[in-house]
Amino acid sequence: MTGDEFAIVIKDQNNIDEVSKISQKLITFLSNPFKVVQNEIFITLSIGVVTNQIKSDSAKDYLRDAEIALNKAKKVGRGKFKIFDKKMYTNLLQQWNLESELQKAFKNNDFEIFYQPIYSVSRKKVYSFETLIRWNHPRFGYISPKKFLQSAEDIGIINPLDRWVMYRGSNNIKELSKSLGEDFNISINLSPVQFALSSLPIYVKEVIKKTNIKPSSLHLEITENTLLSDIKSALRIMHSLKDLGVQLTLDDFGTGFASLSYLRKLPIDTLKIDKSFIRDITTDTQDRAVVDMLIKLSKELNLNVIAEGIETKKEYKMITQMGCDFVQGYYISRPIRFSKLQKSITNIQTKNYDN
Ligand code: C2E
Ligand code: MG
Ligand code: MG
Repeated sequence: MTGDEFAIVIKDQNNIDEVSKISQKLITFLSNPFKVVQNEIFITLSIGVVTNQIKSDSAKDYLRDAEIALNKAKKVGRGKFKIFDKKMYTNLLQQWNLESELQKAFKNNDFEIFYQPIYSVSRKKVYSFETLIRWNHPRFGYISPKKFLQSAEDIGIINPLDRWVMYRGSNNIKELSKSLGEDFNISINLSPVQFALSSLPIYVKEVIKKTNIKPSSLHLEITENTLLSDIKSALRIMHSLKDLGVQLTLDDFGTGFASLSYLRKLPIDTLKIDKSFIRDITTDTQDRAVVDMLIKLSKELNLNVIAEGIETKKEYKMITQMGCDFVQGYYISRPIRFSKLQKSITNIQTKNYDN
């Protein structure tokens, strides 16, 4: 096979349980470090398995299917195995279709930015706008980022896409602030991929220069996944961004791996409590306790805290009573087009959400 790929053929074995046991044994065996000329070597193994229950015409097809399963295993994490099933292949075909359409959309620039206000309860003012990308598909209409971001990453367009959103969003909000005579911040979502690129701070600097936005008005949202692969490089980039004066927000907090002790070490300004904790806050006492604890913790660490996914008055009241100053969610406003922002700001800032 290729450089670091090997094929193993097990004869007369079609029992999935047995094949699984053998795969796991191999993974466990090779996960032990071994010595080569006094150096300890660590390797991890991922395995894609195909059995002849899948009736293929040629050895080449079996190898292709094993490779599909292998890629699936690698996506789950290191040291895993996956057994091929036909669905993996059809999913892959659909994916290819999505990917080629996405490629076309990228060329035609069929994307739009929606903006969702983040509201400051104490100031009774819109504090920031989060940019949320939509794919404006010629046949299917607006497609949610959840459906295409992974593919955008896979085909390598996430980087220019994120950067386009950052420039366009910053420029728009800067213009809007100027024309209304009020300062608004802008919150931009960044894919973890960005934090593997040392060019990110250079680009951010360029955006600040070109749009003339106040650096502290530019809030970059990262998720815990950003810290997963190469934390050292991610931290270096985060510090370079802080040196530019921009603010960093940890998004979807509580859904990933980040432990509480990590929070102290991250150069972040704001914590966003994930909407999955907010959803049942009025009925589930445990979720309520978690949110309460996160708000208190943020205060102790001198971080701003935003509750996302606030949909009802009850949730709004509960969260504000807990001392959370910033809220975002359908209760305040859905994500909207830029052309509708001005009207929405007036609406929001003249409303009294407390009554
Ligand atoms: P996110 O950054 O956590 O954004 C919040 C998501 O919650 C958005 O989903 C928003 O529409 C939705 N939301 C807001 N208020 C409510 C509410 O009250 N109830 C409920 N149920 N949902 C609410 P959306 O727009 O589908 O975006 C999903 C995710 O896609 C975002 O999650 C973000 O991680 C990512 N994303 C969006 N735009 C971009 C982008 O330009 N670049 C990158 N890299 N990621 C993006
Ligand atoms: Mg976000
Ligand atoms: Mg979020």
